[in-house]
Amino acid sequence: MTIGILGGGQLGYMLALAGYPLGLHFRFLDPTPEAPVGRIAQRVTADYLDHAALEKFAHGLELVTYEFENVPVEAAKFLAARVPVYPPPAALEAAQDRINEKKLFRELGIATTDSLPVLKKRDLDPAIKELGLPSILKTCRMGYDGKGQWIFRTADDVEKAKSSLTPVPMVLERFVPFTRELSILAVRSKTGETAFYPLVENHHRDGILRLSLAPAPRIEPQIQRTAEDAARRILESLNYVGVLAIEFFEAGGRLLANEMAPRVHNSGHWTIEGAITSQFENHLRAVLGLPLGSAGPAGCSAMLNLIGDLPDSADVLAIPDAHLHLYGKSPRPGRKLGHITLRAASPERLALRLSELPAFFHRPDFCLDSALTHSASLPA
Ligand code: AMP
Repeated sequence: MTIGILGGGQLGYMLALAGYPLGLHFRFLDPTPEAPVGRIAQRVTADYLDHAALEKFAHGLELVTYEFENVPVEAAKFLAARVPVYPPPAALEAAQDRINEKKLFRELGIATTDSLPVLKKRDLDPAIKELGLPSILKTCRMGYDGKGQWIFRTADDVEKAKSSLTPVPMVLERFVPFTRELSILAVRSKTGETAFYPLVENHHRDGILRLSLAPAPRIEPQIQRTAEDAARRILESLNYVGVLAIEFFEAGGRLLANEMAPRVHNSGHWTIEGAITSQFENHLRAVLGLPLGSAGPAGCSAMLNLIGDLPDSADVLAIPDAHLHLYGKSPRPGRKLGHITLRAASPERLALRLSELPAFFHRPDFCLDSALTHSASLPA
């Protein structure tokens, strides 16, 4: 049985690695010839809108899924006329545009950040007047890892940014003075069965995820319930199949949804060693209509992204309970090259393991030190 995956990055790579023990085969479609999956599976190198390539790609597939949320909806719809596509293209449509995403959150009664559309440059000043400063302007589409964002702290910042703004639809959001960032991964099978992973605490720097702590320390049961409730509403309203990630800000004891991703997610990499069933395996189980595996944690985990350059593998593997994942990508500033998951029996032990990490992880561009002293995080 062969599963087609749109996008050939590390998420696809890890999906395939989770699928091989289940007897599955994979075929990828990605426009870039250096996509890392080329090392482990069949790959079609073509543009997502190349209909002839899509036909060839779809031939003989059991179903198609995706690991990249900016796949053109048109490509997903073209394929859906030939073979089942999960999650449904409607989920892509909702997640690709920040205005649609926020509209969906509001329609489903999910608390989200206050925001206003800025479709034209002239909408900016009235939006700032209404939402106040500080605020963040984001492009509606194609923004990820903090790209396409402007933070306005003063009126001067707004004036300075005006000349560099590209004429594309944007959204202005009120800045949320959050205590921390949390995310939930939820999964819904073709049969309607659902499972929810515990909330994860995420630390970003320059808009890129650096560290996830899982389960998030000190979570009130009510907060976990709120996150699951939000996820359940989205899963049901979209008749969703597969893994869905939702990112939240925790502020004043409340959760505000920031964005969602209709795919496996970086903040779920810890599940490979840190949960009973990984997000990758559960995504495959879901799209195939197989029983879902438990989303319960196996101890406490910390996932550290390796960005831009790599530490010495021997230094990492000398740490007890450290698991190293390298994606086979060439180093480049800001590029996710791999990750490490540290697993421990208790939060105290995890804090100890993190403090023992080599100097590589205590550089100012990492955020380990701030995470270790963060009041909401690990035990002091
Ligand atoms: P996003 O692309 O929306 O995930 O934003 C990237 C990062 O910018 C988030 O992970 C937050 O750290 C920060 N951020 C985004 N939106 C807001 C907001 N409304 N208030 C405060 N920080 C934000």
